[in-house]
Amino acid sequence: MAERMRLGGILDLSTVDWYGNASLIVFFAGCNFRCPYCQNSPLIPPDSGVEVGVEVLRERIEKNLILLDAVVFTGGEPTLQPEGVEEAARAVRDYGLKLMLDTNGSMPNIIERLLKEELVDRVALDVKAPLRAEPYGRVIGLPEAGASMARRVEESLKLCNQYGVEIEVRTTVAPGISDDPDFIREIARSIRGRCTVYYLQQFDNTGNVLDESLKALEPPTRERLMELGRVALEEGVGEVYIKTRRHGLERVQI
Ligand code: SF4
Repeated sequence: MAERMRLGGILDLSTVDWYGNASLIVFFAGCNFRCPYCQNSPLIPPDSGVEVGVEVLRERIEKNLILLDAVVFTGGEPTLQPEGVEEAARAVRDYGLKLMLDTNGSMPNIIERLLKEELVDRVALDVKAPLRAEPYGRVIGLPEAGASMARRVEESLKLCNQYGVEIEVRTTVAPGISDDPDFIREIARSIRGRCTVYYLQQFDNTGNVLDESLKALEPPTRERLMELGRVALEEGVGEVYIKTRRHGLERVQI
């Protein structure tokens, strides 16, 4: 039976979501985290977005096919809709396109299912905080779930390594939440040797930020991100980039 999925939208063409690839971006609705800095907060409720069939995705791919290298599944959290995601991923493969899954890592069993079926080429995995109960629970806005979610993210990273897929680990750097050098140092120690690249993303206060009080805060500066990026390099992470609104993606050098 054809699966239905709830989508928040489809963006026909992006060159910045998967650098080096012209990508169609599919926003899956619903998320199980409550990160205070979330910029896609309208997509958090499970009943957000609209319900569509995979034919909607096929139409959009066909319309843009000549321009596309890849498709990116993002959200929200795509893995909360396992059947829809799998069917959508098969559709992407039918057109010979590459697929990147952008995930918060909370559903390792679904990630494994997609990897086992060889449907995903690259996983963009959020490691939002050191992989321990307190910081994880605080950063995802779910203090009670910190321990279990940190474990699940660790498991997701392990599976990605096991299946040999490209891994882009991401941390959003937000003022007072995730901008301390020791915070980044601890993440770096957990991911070194286990990811293709590490991105430090600048918190952006211009979108639909979940915790509105954060909108009044200045995003961390490019210099601050560079400094944190160097901490990650010093800890042995091989390739580190920062991503800012003004300058886009820049590689960090010691
Ligand atoms: S930033 Fe957090 S709450 Fe927002 S979509 Fe990503 S994981 Fe979900």
